[in-house]
Amino acid sequence: MNAEIIAVGSELLLGQIINSNAKFLSEQLAEVGVNVYFHTVVGDNPDRLKEAIETAESRAQLIVFTGGLGPTKDDLTKETIARHLGTSLEKDEDALLYIKDYFKRAQREMTPNNEKQALVLKGAKVLKNEQGMAPGMFYAQSSINYMLLPGPPSEMIPMYKNYGRPAIERALGRKETIASRVLRFFGIGEAELETELMDLIEAQSNPTVAPLASDGEVTIRLTAKHESRESAEKLLDQSEEEILKRVRPYFYGYDDTTLMEETSKALKEKNLTIACAESLTGGMFEAQLTSISGAGGILKGGIVCYSPEVKKKLLDVSRNTIAIHGTVSKPCAEELAENVREKFDSDIGISFTGAAGPGPHEGKDEGTIWIGIARKDRETKTYLLNLAGTRNGNRARTVKYGCHFLLKELKNEQE
Ligand code: ATP
Ligand code: MG
Repeated sequence: MNAEIIAVGSELLLGQIINSNAKFLSEQLAEVGVNVYFHTVVGDNPDRLKEAIETAESRAQLIVFTGGLGPTKDDLTKETIARHLGTSLEKDEDALLYIKDYFKRAQREMTPNNEKQALVLKGAKVLKNEQGMAPGMFYAQSSINYMLLPGPPSEMIPMYKNYGRPAIERALGRKETIASRVLRFFGIGEAELETELMDLIEAQSNPTVAPLASDGEVTIRLTAKHESRESAEKLLDQSEEEILKRVRPYFYGYDDTTLMEETSKALKEKNLTIACAESLTGGMFEAQLTSISGAGGILKGGIVCYSPEVKKKLLDVSRNTIAIHGTVSKPCAEELAENVREKFDSDIGISFTGAAGPGPHEGKDEGTIWIGIARKDRETKTYLLNLAGTRNGNRARTVKYGCHFLLKELKNEQE
């Protein structure tokens, strides 16, 4: 089955929003083995939408629409499709009840145009909207399947996962299930990872093994097909084991997790607190840590010690260290990490100091960065990075390295 995604919305054409729905749906459709050959974007215009539908019908057996299911005048996706297919729209009583109830719960007056949202293509399977009002639809005519999804990703994503994907799988008449898993790596390049796993990637069939690099991280998506979910998961387990045998030191988590999320989890599990001395990261590490719920038990606090004076005054970095080695140095990172740990009375102190760029800083090349990790009654560790990105790319990467080294530290402790 080949698919085309038609995103409807003039705001997409005006560049006001990014077509993230197409990205999500493409990934999802690949997972069920449906080839996506075209992405189309069309404005809120019935004639041009009709044209887009006709083109899609000539080259796809599944057409997935997003957007234009709402109550307003410019929402015309289902109206245009109904007219084009020569079918009518009829009220779906369940959807109407749900919409009425939605307004009641929100204690808002329901305007008449909201009833329009309960209209569905006659004979379509209705896809429930659990996050909003407009229901989705799955409709088949002359061996072409039409799936209509709402525009807002917060509504579209759960609708697709809970109702859209099963409808597609039914249409495909699949007896097998598909399970997938993403393994996340940091500290290893894509090329290096691929080299390590080359034979597995080349021999892949079930599961398939697909590496992808972005933002300094590499992920591997494993996708397995089998009769039951359980046996598909088992295939994933085996493949994961084989991969981790070779590159475990770089592995940090599954699916949508982040390095900071894993760091936060590891600190919580070990009941450890942390304090931060952030020079070039300017609070970025703490901002990310506090964005994850439960930071309260972990983060004691920190100091954005951007200037040498603050490093000296508030964090007691010695005059000698700065005079002899400069602020972009191993001794400075050590003292920052140790002193912030002591001042905040935390289990761990972490420091970031370096030349983010552009250009050198205190004679150190841009991208030269030191990270310090101090622990109570243990030797302080420092790590030198030589990054080659933009200023903010380097800063963001430094935070990720901070998490990476912390995770390593905490994992080693286990063994
Ligand atoms: P609503 O009931 O909210 O009007 P709708 O199904 O009519 O939903 P639209 O009116 O087309 O959808 O879009 C509503 C919002 O959904 C847009 O303003 C945008 O924020 C988001 N959205 C729409 N299409 C996309 C897309 N392709 N990718 C990402 N976001 C989108
Ligand atoms: Mg709308």
